[in-house]
Amino acid sequence: MASAPAYDFIVIGAGSAGCAVAAGLADAGSVAVVEAGGSDAHPFIKMPFGLIWLMGSKRDWRFKSAPQAALGGRQINIPRGKMLGGSGSINSMVWFRGRADDFDNWQVPGWAWSDVEPAFQEVEARLTPSEMRNPHPMVRKLSRLFGANTPTNPTPERESGGVFRFNMRNGRRWSAADAFLRPAQAKGVTVLTGREVQRLGFDGHTARTVNFTDGTHLTAKRGIVLSAGAIGSPTILLQSGVGPAADLAAQGIALVKDNAGIGANLHDHPGAGLHFTGEGYGIALKQAAAWALSPLNFLFRRNGILSSPTVEGGMFFNAHGTDATPTVQTHFIPFFMNWKGSRYAPGTGFFADVCVCRPKSRGALRLTDQGVSIDFNLLSDPADLDLMVAGIKRLRTLIKEAGINGTEGHPGPDINDDAAIRDYILAHCGTAYHPVGTLRMGQGDAPVTPRLAVRGLQNLWVADASVMPAITSANTNAPSMMIGHRAAQMIRADAA
Ligand SMILES: Cc1cc2nc3c(=O)[nH]c(=O)nc-3n(C[C@H](O)[C@H](O)[C@H](O)COP(=O)(O)OP(=O)(O)OC[C@H]3O[C@@H](n4cnc5c(N)ncnc54)[C@H](O)[C@@H]3O)c2cc1C
Repeated sequence: MASAPAYDFIVIGAGSAGCAVAAGLADAGSVAVVEAGGSDAHPFIKMPFGLIWLMGSKRDWRFKSAPQAALGGRQINIPRGKMLGGSGSINSMVWFRGRADDFDNWQVPGWAWSDVEPAFQEVEARLTPSEMRNPHPMVRKLSRLFGANTPTNPTPERESGGVFRFNMRNGRRWSAADAFLRPAQAKGVTVLTGREVQRLGFDGHTARTVNFTDGTHLTAKRGIVLSAGAIGSPTILLQSGVGPAADLAAQGIALVKDNAGIGANLHDHPGAGLHFTGEGYGIALKQAAAWALSPLNFLFRRNGILSSPTVEGGMFFNAHGTDATPTVQTHFIPFFMNWKGSRYAPGTGFFADVCVCRPKSRGALRLTDQGVSIDFNLLSDPADLDLMVAGIKRLRTLIKEAGINGTEGHPGPDINDDAAIRDYILAHCGTAYHPVGTLRMGQGDAPVTPRLAVRGLQNLWVADASVMPAITSANTNAPSMMIGHRAAQMIRADAA
C-alpha cells in the first residue's frame, strides 16, 4: 500500500486563527493546511454587503444549537464560515482587540495583556484595520454620546460610541486568508480545500495522522494543530477518543485520553435588539437610484451601499448606567431589518442590539446519540438576562439622546416594563456569532496547556477561539488571529 503523504505540520482549518498559524510555521518545515470548505474566490466574499447572502449558503456550516432551556426550548442559528478564511470570510469585519483586563483576568501564564499586546500589533501590521470609509451619517451621531467632545472610535475600555474599525482594504474584505495564508502559500505551504477531517489517529498518546471523511489520511511528522474553531476543534477531538470517558463510551468510541474539559465551557455573547423605522437604508422609492447604482459604485469607486458590512458602528456602555465601565456592546446596523419573517420588505430604518460583554452562562458541546449537541445554555445565569433588560432600556434612551430619527417598530414602546422586556429577550435572543471556550487553556486540569498543547498528548496543539478561557468583551476575530499568531511561535519552540 502506498504510504500517505507526510508533512512536518498539519494545520486543520484555514480560518482566522489557522491562517495565522500557517504563516508562522511556513519556514519551520513542510506545512499542509487542510480545510473542509472551498476557496474564498467569490464576489460576495470580497464585497462587504455580500455577507447577507453568504450566511445560510453552502459556505456556512449552518449549525443549530441544542434546544435552549432558558429560551423555552428554542434552537438558535450558529453560522460558521466554511471556506478559506473561515468565519473571517463571512463576518462583518468589526475589529476589536478586547479589553486589556480581559486577558489579565484569564490568569493564564504567558497570556496577560502585556504578553498579548505585541502580538496584536504584529497582526494589525498585516490586517491594517481602519475606520469604515462612508458610514451612514447617523452612525457618527453615536460618537457624541457619553460626554465625548470629539468623535472617537468606540472602545470596550470605556463608555463610547461611533463608527467601528474594520479589517477592510480599499473597501473590500481583507481576511486572514489574504493577510496570512496567501503569503504563506507563496513560501511553500500546501493548502488542501474540500478536505473535512473526521478524526485524528494516535500512536499511544502521540498524534500521528489526520483522517478525512472520505477515508483518506495524511501523516504529521512533528505535529498537528487544531484550528477548526470553537465548534470544529472539540468535535474532532471527541470523535478521536479525546474527551469525557463516559460520553465516548456511550458512543462506542475507543478512549485515547479522558478529559472532562473537552467541549465544556462553551459560551458566546448573548444578544437581542430593537428594530426601528425611519432614517437608514432600505427598500424605498427614494433610494432606488442608490441601490441601482450600488454595484457600479462598489466596482469602480469602492463605496455605496454594497460597501457596507451591515454593522457600521455601535457603542459600549454600562447597562445600568451606574458607572463608566461598559457591560454591554451595541452593534448598530443602519438598514431596515424586517421583523415579520420575510427578508425583503419595504421600509427604511435601522437595528441596534445589546450584547453582554462578559456573559456568565456556560454550556457545553457534547457527542450524543443524536450527533454533536451544541448547547450554549444561553441566559442560564440570571445575571446575563438582567444586564440585557437594563441594556435594552438604556439603549432606547441613548438612541434618543444621539438625535437619531427613528420609531421603534419592534418590539415597540409598549414593551417597557422589566417583565415584558424579559419575555421579549427570551423569545428573540440569539448570539453575536462568537462561540469560544470549548478547549479552554489554563493550568491544572484545563484541556489545553498555556503553551496550547492538548494536555496529556504529544504532537497536538489547539490554536483558535476555543482556547479562550473567557470571551473577550467585544468581537472575537482579532483575538482569534492573535491566538493563531502566538501559537505558531510556541509550536516552533516546543515541537520535537
Ligand atoms: C456571521 C458572522 C459574523 C461575525 N462578525 C464578526 C465581526 O464583525 N468581528 C469579529 O471580530 N468577529 C466576528 N465574528 C466572529 C469571528 O469571525 C470568529 O470569532 C473567528 O473567525 C473565529 O476564528 P477561528 O479561527 O476560531 O474559527 P474559524 O474562522 O471559524 O475557522 C475554522 C475553520 O476550520 C474549518 N473546519 C471546521 N471543521 C473542520 C473539519 N472537520 N475539517 C476541516 N476543516 C474544518 C472551517 O471550515 C473554518 O474554515 C463573526 C462570525 C460570524 C459567523
